Amino acid sequence: MLHKTVCKSAALAVASALLVVPNAFADATDIGPAQFEAVVQEAYDKYKGLREGKNADYIPILTTVPSDLFGVAIATRDGKIYSAGDVDYKFSIQSVSKPFTAALIMQQQGPEAVRKKIGVEPTGLPFNSKIALELYPERSVNPMVNAGAIAAVSLVKADSEKQRWQEILQNLDDFAGADLNVMQEVYDSEYKAAWSNRGIANLLYNYERLYGDPEETLRVYTKQCSVGVTAKELAVMGATLANGGVNPLTGKRVLDSSHVPELLAIMAVAGFYDESGEWMFNAGLPSKTGVGGGIVSVVPGKFAIAAFSPRLNEAGNSIRAMRAIRHIAGELGVGLYGSNRE
Ligand code: GLN
Repeated sequence: MLHKTVCKSAALAVASALLVVPNAFADATDIGPAQFEAVVQEAYDKYKGLREGKNADYIPILTTVPSDLFGVAIATRDGKIYSAGDVDYKFSIQSVSKPFTAALIMQQQGPEAVRKKIGVEPTGLPFNSKIALELYPERSVNPMVNAGAIAAVSLVKADSEKQRWQEILQNLDDFAGADLNVMQEVYDSEYKAAWSNRGIANLLYNYERLYGDPEETLRVYTKQCSVGVTAKELAVMGATLANGGVNPLTGKRVLDSSHVPELLAIMAVAGFYDESGEWMFNAGLPSKTGVGGGIVSVVPGKFAIAAFSPRLNEAGNSIRAMRAIRHIAGELGVGLYGSNRE
């Protein structure tokens, strides 16, 4: 009996020692409007001159987006927005759409559907990897890379292609609290060049890890990636996750709060593809990037930071957006595991 009690309290002591309280190092509720405003402007000023990287070119139209565009925005869980630079410019959401469609699957079918039918492991490989499909028995591996995101589109409950698309767009609208639209010229350009994603869709189908017709799924996935957003809208999408799944502008619940941690966990391990470790090391925030130049990062329970700039690094991540977000996260001390200063 005594032995049992001792073991129990020892186990409790170990458990509490291991317990990591997110944001224990800084209470972001203490951050006031002036500080948010100042840090956003500071991040913008600090990196506006940075010219490293280049626009994505495997989707031809993306080479025509002015490379110097740069915008930074924070949206808080009470719906306030702080911004600097080109924050009203519409760019294609690309892979930043992926966590939101994964959220839709969680909402419709529960997080287990994502875990079992797609996967939740990082690939350690580029976003468009075909090798990952051959290497891992899950095939799709996780919903942040193309294979998993294409599988996610095929999983959305719908009776027709039109309905599948409407469900996905409505969900993106709900996260943004805005009426979003496809940028038709982006869709046309990407669909024409979509041989790699077509290969992925067909491979998934071959392995019974696609849950619909490959070509139909590819069209809807490409549409999803071609949706236009602004940095401000992206920040609100992230803030909906920061706010436990309720859009801070509209008050609409988009995702059950119990599913938010699972989604953020997948973003943390795979949101930056083969740079996810580097990103968590540097910034410590669950995030998602896209080849349109957008990135959104979530400070759970508090706010979201979004940035946009078209020039990318080798992994397909926007260099200025990364630097700006990292700067803000560091200055505000909101990294999940403590303050990661730049
Ligand atoms: N639509 C792009 C693709 O499928 C998205 C990739 C990305 O943003 N990393 O290739």
